[in-house]
Amino acid sequence: MAELYVDIAIPTAVQRVFTYHTRHSDVKRGMRVWVPFRNTYAIGMVVRVHSERPEFETRPVEQILDDEPVMDEVMLKLTEWVHRFYYCSHGEVIQAALPVGLNFTSEKILKVKKGFKGEINETQREILEELESTPYRLRDAEKRWREGKERSALRQLIKKGYAEVWEQPGKKVDYKTARHWVLADKTDPAAVLNRMSEKEKKRKWVQAFERLSKMPLPLSHSALIAMDPLFTGYTLRRIEEEGWITAVDLPVKSDRWHQARHEPHRIKTLSEDQQKVYQEIVKPMERGEYASFLLHGVTGSGKTEVYIHALKKSLEKGRGGLVLVPEIALTPQTVQRFYQVFGDQIAVLHSRLTDREKYEAWQSLKSGEKNIAIGPRSAVFAPVENLGILIVDEEHDASYKQFDPSPRYHARDVAIMRATLEKAVVVLGSATPGMVSVKAVMEKKHKLLQLSMRPTGSMPEVRILDLKAYKGAMRGPVTVELYQAMEQALKRKEQVILLYNRRGYASFLRCEECGHVPQSPESSTSLTYHKRKNILLDHYSGYSRRRDTRCEACGSEKLSTQGSGTQQIEEEMAALFPNARLLRMDRDTTSGKHGHQRVYEQFLSGKADILIGTQLVAKGLDFPNVTVVGVIDADTELAFPSFRAGERMYQLLSQVAGRAGRAEKPGIVYVQTWRPEHPAIRHARTHDFRAFAREELRERELLLFPPFSRMVVFHFKSPSASRVQSVAHKFCEVVRKITSENVVMGPSPSVIEWLSGQYQWEANIKLDRRYSANSIRNLLDKIFEEYDAVKPKGAAAVRINVDVDAIE
Ligand SMILES: [Zn+2]
Repeated sequence: MAELYVDIAIPTAVQRVFTYHTRHSDVKRGMRVWVPFRNTYAIGMVVRVHSERPEFETRPVEQILDDEPVMDEVMLKLTEWVHRFYYCSHGEVIQAALPVGLNFTSEKILKVKKGFKGEINETQREILEELESTPYRLRDAEKRWREGKERSALRQLIKKGYAEVWEQPGKKVDYKTARHWVLADKTDPAAVLNRMSEKEKKRKWVQAFERLSKMPLPLSHSALIAMDPLFTGYTLRRIEEEGWITAVDLPVKSDRWHQARHEPHRIKTLSEDQQKVYQEIVKPMERGEYASFLLHGVTGSGKTEVYIHALKKSLEKGRGGLVLVPEIALTPQTVQRFYQVFGDQIAVLHSRLTDREKYEAWQSLKSGEKNIAIGPRSAVFAPVENLGILIVDEEHDASYKQFDPSPRYHARDVAIMRATLEKAVVVLGSATPGMVSVKAVMEKKHKLLQLSMRPTGSMPEVRILDLKAYKGAMRGPVTVELYQAMEQALKRKEQVILLYNRRGYASFLRCEECGHVPQSPESSTSLTYHKRKNILLDHYSGYSRRRDTRCEACGSEKLSTQGSGTQQIEEEMAALFPNARLLRMDRDTTSGKHGHQRVYEQFLSGKADILIGTQLVAKGLDFPNVTVVGVIDADTELAFPSFRAGERMYQLLSQVAGRAGRAEKPGIVYVQTWRPEHPAIRHARTHDFRAFAREELRERELLLFPPFSRMVVFHFKSPSASRVQSVAHKFCEVVRKITSENVVMGPSPSVIEWLSGQYQWEANIKLDRRYSANSIRNLLDKIFEEYDAVKPKGAAAVRINVDVDAIE
């Protein structure tokens, strides 16, 4: 029989595929194989089967790991697009797209092949005997026999097939049934809860029971754990011990779905506004065509209900759905709302799931048992069968962009590409859409849908407090006006949120007299202060100058480089409001699995009067008793050295405003700033997103920043300061030669110049935004080819990462 050749994608930074030969005629594209790779072995995925004999000598495929392709055509094409567009290897993308157990990092177990025949030497016999009694994990075996003779003996055993490498976990696990929870026979939740004292009701497991009793039970153990931090192994076991719930083994494929779907109270009727939007989304779905929408609606305008109806429509058409959310821990209410309607039909792909749970969720989608997936960024690769609709909620959120490690993809853009491949509909939803999506609407790439009404209550009032006018009228970090508002709210037993969004790592110079922050003459972004060299630096263009000694706006010599942290604000508040109970929410207080949720629930249950926090407090939370929100220093966000600083500021203020007064009590947002004239602040006051977007886009166009260009950022990292600098300069020389002078910016030290033993530099190129995946790849290939020919001595010690469409 003729030799077959297979091209294999392997997760390595090398940008190409690797060709092997095989005699297995049943090998197919999308199957994983076990192949010798460099000095070891690797799992790779077959991306092409052919009979073109390459010029070099090929090595054989050792083992085919799957009976059926684990990736279908659409996913192979999608991952290929990500590979081309984001300049990473196809293997890296596939690795990121598959769960542990099916991707390339799964455990490899070494076992003795039964009934092997052949000559072996003494060392090999010893190894086999040991393996016979205890199968080793491959990496443990490689550690156990890592030296000289033993090492080569082990290799030979594997190569000859006397010792075999097995995949784990997966195949052997029985996924047909799973543990589900139901209410115990005689449990009457209302009666149980009525008997409890208020104190008892505050216990975590009692709260868990209360929430559980409102769910469409039975639900699987893993689904519950995934959807809400209140449900843990402990709380569920505790409830079971009380005899309120019982565990049952049920088929994973559940027919209760039909009951849930027909429970009329679970689906809310759409308002007239929502109905119009829904009709637009459904039209292309009826025809089975690709379409993309930007759904613009303020917080509380009912986007989620539109999503739910559209998902329902997709299911009726026999197709699936995919919902991306920025971070599940921050959006528990949204996820629960989907659960109420779709029940166990949903697979939640969540970073808190164990590897096995992720694998199960993946399988339940792949097999068609479940047909809606919800999850953060990486869920864009969820194997939903026959996908009909993709929803990207909070589409502007920066967490959709992967930064490290490669592949550095943007889940929103991958979702759009996936929708075109699947002939599905994609809906990008946001109260403050990103400029990229706004531009796409102007170019008629997306259709704009609007939900203008906020059904319950009106938008809160936003008051801008110009710090220039409050000189001498400050109480610590707050103006007299904000101080009085807080005092009044606390008197009424209402709650206060104080936002202090200092970005820990970017330091900048600010005048204490007039609030002026020096801007770069080249990119109009704020200059960052680098203490080591005592300079102000523009990390886009590389422009730098010595640290100013006088304010360039007012001449004052009172310049400071350090703002205060949330902890300091907390101390000052404790002094101002000695009777108030304070709570802090920042990276320090929310570490750990459920840290964020813990602080959130403490505040929600009224255990504190004032919540002080970073931007975390603005995300996805709903506090009905909050009537005063204070943004202590809006300028810290504006001073962030990014052309997106204004966009971020607007988003932040809009989110914060969405938090205030969502129930019956109207709220007021106080924004303290030195720059009341800034467009982000001016337009946030009137909730006028369109006006803000117009101004913001005009500015970006002037400076050719995205979305008027495509930005590719090169990151250079090395333990050697001199090498990273010389490589960065050489590299930019090459880039300038190949592209043109005016699209290259840099190189310059990164905002974080030194991190975990590495010096970091960066450079940018701004490409015409019509550059396709292929033309970006061709250009980058050319750059790297040329660079390889001229790279300076010691270049190997410098790592170069490429980030296409970077978001800093
Ligand atoms: Zn000044």
